Amino acid sequence: MESVNGSVLSVKGFIDGSIGIEDGVVVELSKKKAADPAATGIVLPAFCNAHTHLGDAFIRMKLEGTVEQLFGPPSGLKHRMLAKATEKEVVSGIEGAIKTMVHGGTGSFWDFRETGIDGARMLFKGCLGIGIEPVCMGRPKAMEYSKEEVAALLRICDGLGISSMRDWPYSEVQKLSLDARRAGKAFAIHCSEVNREDIDKALDLKPAFLVHMIYASESDLQRCADSSTPIAICPRSNAFFGKLPNIPMMLSKGVTLMLGTDNAMLNTPSMLREIDFAFRAAKLQGDVSPADIVRMAIRGRKGLSAPDNSGFRIGDRARLAVLDVPAGKDPYSDVLRATDADVALVWLGEERWQRQEKESRREKPRKSESGRPRGSHRNTRRRRR
Ligand SMILES: [Zn+2]
Repeated sequence: MESVNGSVLSVKGFIDGSIGIEDGVVVELSKKKAADPAATGIVLPAFCNAHTHLGDAFIRMKLEGTVEQLFGPPSGLKHRMLAKATEKEVVSGIEGAIKTMVHGGTGSFWDFRETGIDGARMLFKGCLGIGIEPVCMGRPKAMEYSKEEVAALLRICDGLGISSMRDWPYSEVQKLSLDARRAGKAFAIHCSEVNREDIDKALDLKPAFLVHMIYASESDLQRCADSSTPIAICPRSNAFFGKLPNIPMMLSKGVTLMLGTDNAMLNTPSMLREIDFAFRAAKLQGDVSPADIVRMAIRGRKGLSAPDNSGFRIGDRARLAVLDVPAGKDPYSDVLRATDADVALVWLGEERWQRQEKESRREKPRKSESGRPRGSHRNTRRRRR
């Protein structure tokens, strides 16, 4: 058995002790410290980034404009750039984003993949050989329904992730939702991102979750809570366009919230940055606890039907992140203070990535024997057990 020591987040809260792992499975949660731990710190289930578009990570330029001008299909900047990009450019952008995610403690993500079958294939290519688990939400390449294309998408994707009801005839969105559910896969959709959309129509699609809901009314949010429809919120993305989700209101209605980083061309896919921003954004609008925000960043990792899977149980797969931050009285608050540079170990099943000694990272950058600055990605390592 191998172990990690520290404040370990179990389903019942934090335990000061250790977590024991054997054959990629959590076999022990103990109040005793292990003698030779692989790492020490705050031990969390690896983050689940509930909403990304990694295909646009290759777009690096000053961004100006509205949601529609930047992201709206079919003629927003992102779609124009994707249409003329080579596969190499797109995959290379995805690979960079994946590296950022793993090194920041993320173990899984729900990606809303543009450009049809090709887009899905490029996402899988970018994730090859890395322990991160993509949940690929594909969509038809053009803004039109084709039974054959949707069937092919549903063979290779985990579900369908659509831009918005306003981009499609509603009858076609209904077909997409029905096809996904008939295939036993998820259907999800952006909703109330640039204006309030009809909540009845959105919920009639039986989405696994809705994305954004920043223009939702109190009653819309109540409908989400009552129908057990989670919402994936992306506060940094919304703030770029001058708007924020009302997190305290969403929580007070009893909505299950998940956290996502949205378009990689706009926000680096760091969950710790999103956690920090989400907490501050929520404080602007009411009361929220660090635990509320941290749980949003973990939820979604095992499937959306679990009541609350934001802590370890014996028998869980060992997919965890260890944050090397000074321990205070409330580990959730300590997570809010962490940055990606504090992620000491990310253990994703068979794959592990461990940061080099922290002390050396805190010194001024200096040249290693290879001539590269210490603490660079080249000096970090992923290793197989
Ligand atoms: Zn999105």
